[in-house]
Amino acid sequence: NRTPVTVIGLGAMGRALAGALLDNGHPTTVWNRSIDKAKRLAVRGATVANTVEEAIAASPVVVVCVLDYAVVREILGPLSGSLAGRTLVNLTNGTPKQARETAEWATGYGADYLDGGIMAVPVMIGRPEALILYSGSPGAFGLHERTLGALGTATYLNADAGHASLYDLALLAAMYGMFGGFYQAAAMVGSEKVPAAEFAPMVVSWLNAMTVALPTVAEAMDTGAGADDDSNLQMQAVSFANILSASREQGISTELLEPMQALLNRAIAAQRGGADTPSLIGMLRTDPVSA
Ligand code: NDP
Repeated sequence: NRTPVTVIGLGAMGRALAGALLDNGHPTTVWNRSIDKAKRLAVRGATVANTVEEAIAASPVVVVCVLDYAVVREILGPLSGSLAGRTLVNLTNGTPKQARETAEWATGYGADYLDGGIMAVPVMIGRPEALILYSGSPGAFGLHERTLGALGTATYLNADAGHASLYDLALLAAMYGMFGGFYQAAAMVGSEKVPAAEFAPMVVSWLNAMTVALPTVAEAMDTGAGADDDSNLQMQAVSFANILSASREQGISTELLEPMQALLNRAIAAQRGGADTPSLIGMLRTDPVSA
């Protein structure tokens, strides 16, 4: 007796979510603005709703995964009243502030609200390596944990609806830092005709070796203790400047590197001799801006 689930939004991700629910035997109702994207899911057994209202009415759990929060509100806003007594699971990418506002709006209409961050690409959905972070209603997560488990490994953070997107975007920030670094590295060796594919395995093993340092740096950040630094910041700033010089010499843009260099220099200027790697995080703090 699987819980019926509605999936609103059948982009690449919504289709994968609906597919995983069908694979797990959940009666699945789908709705999308462009109805043609529902065809293959219908063949697999999904019920295609003609209206959003019909889609919401079909299931106690309504998953929404569209482009952004503005679209979520555009689609669900006119039908807020019909959300009462249901669990709204919003897997759309957005900010913590948007998630909190949406939680307030949905709970104001009598729905239970869970916000989620999908740490996976569509092909991973339904497999354990697809991590999906949730925050919001603890009762709703407890009730539907097994159902959400059909989508990937469901990890509940806490009752603050904003936390799933905070973690999600923070993890993406780390990912883009890594990708940006790789793009720079590939462009640098590419300037001497080294194929990126030939260089990539070396980058992978280097990055793997370097990630080992992260928990130690993190502990020093948390405790405020100075790092027992084998790699002091002044030394790092000198070699960092060499990365920029070499890039320029090879005809490669330094736009991805300049902000990191500015941060290193600011930390060194602020702390003179005492700057260490963990102190960099403090340099990044600014006052929150309300958008
Ligand atoms: P797609 O671009 O494939 O799909 C976008 C979806 O939003 C479609 O269902 C589209 O409908 C709908 N949509 C956009 N604008 C409107 C509108 N004005 N009114 C109604 N519906 C609208 O994106 P994905 O499915 O890949 O992504 C969906 C969410 O999942 C995003 O928030 C994304 O960040 C997140 N995500 C995606 C990942 C990925 O790798 N794909 C990874 C992790 C998270 P229509 O088909 O009619 O255009």
